[in-house]
Amino acid sequence: MKPASRLRVHLLQVGHCRHPEWVTLRGGRWTSAEFPALAALLIHPRHGALLYDTGYSAHFEAATQRFPERLYRWITPVQLPATQTLQQQLARHGVAPADVARVLISHLHADHIAGLRDLPRARFTALRAEIAQLRDVGRLRALMHAVLPALLPDDFAARLDYADDAPARDLGPLWAPFARGFDLFGDGSLIAVPLPGHSSAQMGLLLRDADDRPLLLAADACWSARAWREQRMPSLLARPLMHDWAAYRTTLAGLLAVATRQPDLLIVPSHCGATIASYSPRAQERAA
Ligand SMILES: [Zn+2]
Repeated sequence: MKPASRLRVHLLQVGHCRHPEWVTLRGGRWTSAEFPALAALLIHPRHGALLYDTGYSAHFEAATQRFPERLYRWITPVQLPATQTLQQQLARHGVAPADVARVLISHLHADHIAGLRDLPRARFTALRAEIAQLRDVGRLRALMHAVLPALLPDDFAARLDYADDAPARDLGPLWAPFARGFDLFGDGSLIAVPLPGHSSAQMGLLLRDADDRPLLLAADACWSARAWREQRMPSLLARPLMHDWAAYRTTLAGLLAVATRQPDLLIVPSHCGATIASYSPRAQERAA
């Protein structure tokens, strides 16, 4: 396959928040550390410009003006420099907001979906159980789980497709314990992989970039590369944020297992600055 017919991947940092490192990594430093919010721009040879999550946006600030939502901002102070907005970064790759055909939503936490309202033509894909929680919880419970329903476009439901409706694929022994994925376009280019624990139904994304390198976009299955390499769970303080602590632990162990079997695999946690900074696709650089 020629590189031109492959998926091009750009990892964008769309704002960041600050936490003490020890909250996200047991045994981590007491000082406050920066956690970037990832939006991955995927230029698909047939389906055009796609995003995996959006990172922060001005809508996050608007949605957290009042109580109780304002608590969210206090707990995680957010910065979004003008040069880091999604619009600015898409423009650098020649993509207008209206060009984004689809957003693959890892989960509904605000730092992953705050930009949805800025993408007027995009359809959305998420796992069914992640969306189902919206019906079941009130405003305060939603906030406890870092979900701000105000960030969803008014016609969100009409623009939504469920990843679970795509053809299921057996991932085979290399990917155990992640047994099954969903082949989003039916061509093997993007496989949605359930990564349980962090939220009701978190969706990872498995793909091969223009260099034919396998990437697992892992959202918040862990908060840093150190976490999966050293199998370090977050602090117990982060436990109420998690949908299922035991499942989170199993998923974290799974990341190390798949990485050990596949040394070529790049696991991309959404908030790991070191991983995002280290990614520079070789074929893409040659093509530029
Ligand atoms: Zn997150």
